[in-house]
Parts: sequence; C-alpha cells; structure tokens
Amino acid sequence: MTTDNSNNSSSYKDKKPLSKPSGGFKISWFYVVVIFLLLVFYVFFNPSNYVEEISWKDFNNLMLSQQDVEKIVIVNKSIAEIYIKRDRLEEAKYQELKKRVFSLNNGPHYSMQIGSVDSFENKLENAEEHFSSDVKTTVIYTTRTNMSDLFSWLLPIILIVVFWLFLFRRFASKNDTNPLFNFGKSTAKLTTKDKRSEVTFKDVAGLKEAKVEVMEVVDFLQNPEKYTKLGAKIPKGVMLVGPPGTGKTLMAKAIAGEADVPFYSMSGAEFVEMFVGVGASRVRDLFKRAKEKAPSIIFIDEIDAVGRSRGKINAFQANDERESTLNQLLTELDGFGSNTGVIVLAATNRPDILDKALLRPGRFDRHIYLELPNKQERIEIFNVHISNLKLAKNADLDVLSALTPGFSGADIANICNEAALIAARKNKNEIEHEDFMGARDRVVGGLERKSKIISPNEKNIIAYHEAGHAVASWYLKHVDSLVKVSIIPRGKSLGSAWYLPEERQIVTKSQFIDQICASLGGRAAEEVIFNEMSSGALDDLEKITKQAYSMVAYYGLDKTIGPLSFYDSTGQNESVFKKPYSENMAKLIDKEVQNLILKAYQRTLDLLVMHKSELEKLAQLLLKKEVVEKDDLELILGVRETKALL
Ligand code: ADP
Repeated sequence: MTTDNSNNSSSYKDKKPLSKPSGGFKISWFYVVVIFLLLVFYVFFNPSNYVEEISWKDFNNLMLSQQDVEKIVIVNKSIAEIYIKRDRLEEAKYQELKKRVFSLNNGPHYSMQIGSVDSFENKLENAEEHFSSDVKTTVIYTTRTNMSDLFSWLLPIILIVVFWLFLFRRFASKNDTNPLFNFGKSTAKLTTKDKRSEVTFKDVAGLKEAKVEVMEVVDFLQNPEKYTKLGAKIPKGVMLVGPPGTGKTLMAKAIAGEADVPFYSMSGAEFVEMFVGVGASRVRDLFKRAKEKAPSIIFIDEIDAVGRSRGKINAFQANDERESTLNQLLTELDGFGSNTGVIVLAATNRPDILDKALLRPGRFDRHIYLELPNKQERIEIFNVHISNLKLAKNADLDVLSALTPGFSGADIANICNEAALIAARKNKNEIEHEDFMGARDRVVGGLERKSKIISPNEKNIIAYHEAGHAVASWYLKHVDSLVKVSIIPRGKSLGSAWYLPEERQIVTKSQFIDQICASLGGRAAEEVIFNEMSSGALDDLEKITKQAYSMVAYYGLDKTIGPLSFYDSTGQNESVFKKPYSENMAKLIDKEVQNLILKAYQRTLDLLVMHKSELEKLAQLLLKKEVVEKDDLELILGVRETKALL
C-alpha cells in the first residue's frame, strides 16, 4: 500500500508569527554569564592555587630544620599551608617564590598534603625533637569551604541550564519548523486545492459498487444541504475494506481528486512512535487541522496499526501507547458533530481484528468492500495500466486476464511494469505478449535464477519431484488445470508446477483432498522412483499441514470431529497459549489431521505407481527441456478431462 502523495501534495505547516525571545531569557542569560565569570575568576585567580606543593621531606630538610617556618595552618584536616618567616624570605632559596606567590609577605608560601592530623602532629613533634629546638612551630586548625568542590557540582548544572536555555531560545525563535519539538504534531500530508490529487475515478478500474458508494461521500462534501435539509446526518467515518493491493489507497486518492476539498492522508503506523503520548497528540492535531479547513477529508491508511481490538492484549505485546491513540481517535470521532464537514476515510485489510468500538454506528459505520477483480475487471485494470505503454499487436489482454485469476490491481500494475522492463532489457521497441507472460511468471514465482548451480543428481530429483506433482494433479479431478512444469530455479523454489486457478468462492471437501494429494505428488514421486525422500518437499508439506488443520478444526470437514469450528472471526482469542478446545479434542484433531494426510499420501503413491511410465517420460523430458508446456504434457499424459479418473 502506498501513502506517498509526494507528487501531488505539500507538507502542511501552520504559519504562526515568529515569537520573539522574551525579556526573561535575557535576564537569565545575564545571571548565567555573571555566575560563570565569577567561577572562572575564582578558579584562575584564587591565590591558594598558586602555592607550590611540597613534600614532607623538603619541608623538613629545607624549612623546618632551618627554623624558617612561622606557622602552619591545617585546612580541613587535609592540607597544611606553610607560612615562612618574613625575614627568611630574602634568602636565596625563597627567591623564586616572588615570581609565583600572589602576596609574598602574607603567604601562604607552600602547601602540603597530610595523611591525617595525628600522624602529621607526631611527625612534626619528632622532627622538632630531633632538631632539639625549643621553639615549637605554631599550628592553627581551620575549616574552609572548598570552592573547587562547589564548582565541580555546580558546573554540570550550569551547563545543563545553559543547554536548555539554548534549546528553548531556538524553539521560541524558530516556531514549529524544528522537528525536535514537532513529534506531537501529526505528520499528515495535505493535498491542497492548488496541488490537487491528479487521481480521479477514471484511474480506478472496475470496483463499480464501491465507486457508487464512494461517490456518495464526495456528494456529502460538495452538497451537504441536500442531505441536512431533510434532517439527515452526514456519516463521519467510512471504512475501505479489502485484500492488499485492491486499490484502497488509490480510491482514497481518487476521492481527493474528485471532491476538490483538502485531503489529509496519514498511515496508522505513523501515529505510534517510541515516545509515549505522541500518538494521541498526533490524532488531536490531525483532527484540529482538518476541522479548521472543513469541508475536508482525513484518510488513515492501515488503520489496524492503531485500531486493533483492545481486549486482545498479547502477553508480549502490551502496547498502552497504541491503546491511548485508539482512545483518542474514538474521542475525536465522537467529538465533532455529524455536519461539521469532515469525513474520515480509513483503509484496512484486517477488519476482523479492529476494535468493535471503532465500527459502531456514529464512527466508522459505513464499510465499503473492495474485492479482488474478476476477469472483466482485470481487463479494465490492464487497460488503465497499459495506457502509457507501447504494446505490440500480439499482446492479448483477454488471455492475460484469463491467466491471472486471484491477482489484485497492484499485481496487474506490477505485471505491466515488469513486462515493459523485460521488453526494454531485450532492446525491443514494443512490448510483446511473451513479455507479459514472463512478467506474470516473475510476479508469481520470483526471478528466474538460471545461474544457480545444481548438481546433476539434484537436478534428477527435482525433475522427478516436479513430474510427480504434474502427473498426480493431471489425474485428479478437482485440481486446477496444469499449465506448465519447470525445473528452472525461480525465487526460492528449485522447480515449479504452474496451475491456472479457477475463480471460486467456496472449496468442497473433495477439492481440498485432491489439492493435498497434488501437493504430495512430489514427495510420493521421490519415494516411488528412488525409494528415498528429500528435504525438497518442505513447502508442500507445510502447506498441506495447514490446509488439513483448517479442514478439520475450522471448516468442520472431518467425520469423527463433526461439524465443529474453532475458528474465531472476532480475533479475540488470538493468544498462542489458549486453545479454545480441551486437551482431548486437541489430541483428536492431531490424530484426524494425521490420518487425513496419510490417507492422501497413500492415494497419491498408488496413483503414481499406476502411472509410473508417464512419470518417467515426463521427468526425462523435463531434464531435457527444463520447461514442459501444456502441449507436451498432453502428448505424454493425454488430454486431461477425459482422463480424469479418480
Ligand atoms: P491497497 O491500498 O488496497 O493496498 P493500493 O491502492 O495501494 O492498494 O494499490 C496499489 C496500486 O495498484 C495502485 O497504485 C494502482 O496502480 C494499482 N491498482 C489497484 N487497484 C486498482 C484499480 N482498481 N484500478 C487501477 N489500478 C489499481
């Protein structure tokens, strides 16, 4: 799904007048600068910072022993500041003090770290005894607030304050263009009148019923009086529901193009970010902006990202943020009156998991279903997408649309583009039918990887595996008709059998079982031919196991278990830990699924043993040609309808 409106939309920004930074900021700035300067002054001009630190040994030998010391001031029990007698300062050894010490006469002249006051006193006493001096040095004890400590915790605070002031100044002066302060604003794209969406209903092929309903929405916006004068309330919310690629976003863009009103588009996932509370504030902002520009349209793509049922909290995925976003969305939907001229469109491919509150009358009560296109609609979609392509005469859209059952509009758009790329790669001037066929195969099966190195032995196994699928499906009545078999690696698979699926709405039990048998054809062929099995059947086995479980536990197709279904369409019990049935029932389901698959496998084995010679022939042809088309298949296996035996 695309929400990219980049060609036809412009980012919306409220143009608020620039607010000047207030006087308060200037005063705070003044204080910050003054405090900062004071601290800098203190650090750089504090006299005690210029005092030389000396060791006990130097102090003892050079000063104490000479009786040069006038007094010692012990600061905070950790530093001893040494004051030299004034008359001794003239001595040569103290001359270099003049250069450093701020005030030579007053001191202190030196400082010294002391371990503890007691040990210092002892040392001093011993030293003085040693010099047998009678005059004891004066020792004064004092406590001082250490400014550098103060500075060390004040500095980070000042830096943080300065940083915040800086940010707020930027915020105040640059209004809301700064993304740092905009996470609460909605990121909705606005399609304005002058840059209108160029998509109109003409670009939306097929979807006739949906278009009629959607046109009504356009009419609500253009002629509201027509409805309000009769007392009718104009619907607020319209939900576009359908499988991926069926044109929900395209339809919303077309409404924007037709309605000629401002159109805000946003994806559900954009509401939820890592910041708590952002989703709710974005919802508020989106609705506020839309109401200011009413009449207008809000389009929320992939609403299931926010609108998931609230009761279903997964133990690992509790997301309060999503819940509060949803609550805000509900409040906003209730908050504006029905005739304010704002219509909310939303798209989802999982309506079953949406919160019921979202779908109740008065909110998203109109549901428009977009289905996968039928053959006629596919032709119309092809016609829309080939309008810019150069087609060769042999390009047959009728055949192409017949060969693309189950394809969505997006798949078809993709095929058209791929076909053009393939033709360009071959330096053609026009796109031919075979280019379209190549594009279809690529869209279905992935890119051909002819260069992938596969050993001859593996190639042999792959050929028999694919031939097994082909032969089994050929002789099973209810399997879709086989178009071709290939052992050229494509995407992730090493070989493939291509079928043309029938367009059906329901599947019968026999069809299910035949499909399972056809999928087991590959594994069965390996066993019949090589009496050995390989890991190559993984995809087939995964598919049939799921299919068998849904037959037994969901569709009620098993005789022993009976017509019971444990399917939960409300999606309320999606928890992996809680099964809606008992342990006994779980065992029974497992047993029945196993029986069903084992029976189908035996049936496939029997079928392949019966047609072993055809299997060998087809596998050999595959090894020779790599791709075997329907004509060759008919040569080996006979025309299918008359041979449908089992
Ligand atoms: P969704 O939102 O349902 O997943 P989109 O609207 O994004 O699907 O469809 C993707 C693309 O598929 C569109 O851009 C368009 O090219 C093509 N497409 C889908 N449906 C149609 C349609 N009915 N008519 C023409 N093109 C379509």
